[in-house]
Amino acid sequence: MNIILFGAPGAGKGTQANFLIKEFDLIQISTGDMLRDIVKCKTELGKKVEKIMANGDLVSDDIIFSLISNRLNNKDIKNGFIFDGFPRNLKQAKKLDEIINDNNIHLDFVFHIDVDEEILTSRIENRAKYEITTRKDDTSAVLIERLKVYNRETKPVLDYYSDKKILNVIDGMGTIDEVSSSIFRIIKNDFKVD
Ligand code: AMP
Repeated sequence: MNIILFGAPGAGKGTQANFLIKEFDLIQISTGDMLRDIVKCKTELGKKVEKIMANGDLVSDDIIFSLISNRLNNKDIKNGFIFDGFPRNLKQAKKLDEIINDNNIHLDFVFHIDVDEEILTSRIENRAKYEITTRKDDTSAVLIERLKVYNRETKPVLDYYSDKKILNVIDGMGTIDEVSSSIFRIIKNDFKVD
């Protein structure tokens, strides 16, 4: 089973991704995690990527495409994967279509965890204030910038999947359990599993 999960900063995407990975034994393909690994290497590329991430901007599509192509070549994805943080703009979504066609991959579910902007902003402020985080891009100023980038670059990708009639919009305003139940219900309905 192959899934794409969308959610603005503060929407609870990471939490729901973890539930899905455990329940369905999926491999997580998180471009954010891959980029954080590159930053750790302290190479020229690492320093460049670090700056972009620290500002909340998007890293160049070419870097992302090479990360994704390499990752999808690994045989461990055969049981299924979840894209977390990719695609992030329309160019990436179109590239993903090509990759999927070329590699005979079937995309089973596209989920968008939908949360009102006001709630996102207040969650972002709380997250930056009260949660212990080691992420440099989790300060409230950067999170607000990431939200702006999400609205500008990633929202059009949601319309792209909605036009293709493969987008499942999940009400992300409920409790963590309510949100995961909504996602699991859709999967179990389509896959006819218990
Ligand atoms: P995330 O862990 O998904 O929240 O991503 C953290 C940061 O990594 C983002 O704010 C971007 O700077 C960068 N990033 C992650 N995924 C992508 C992507 N698909 N395209 C461009 N930049 C990305």
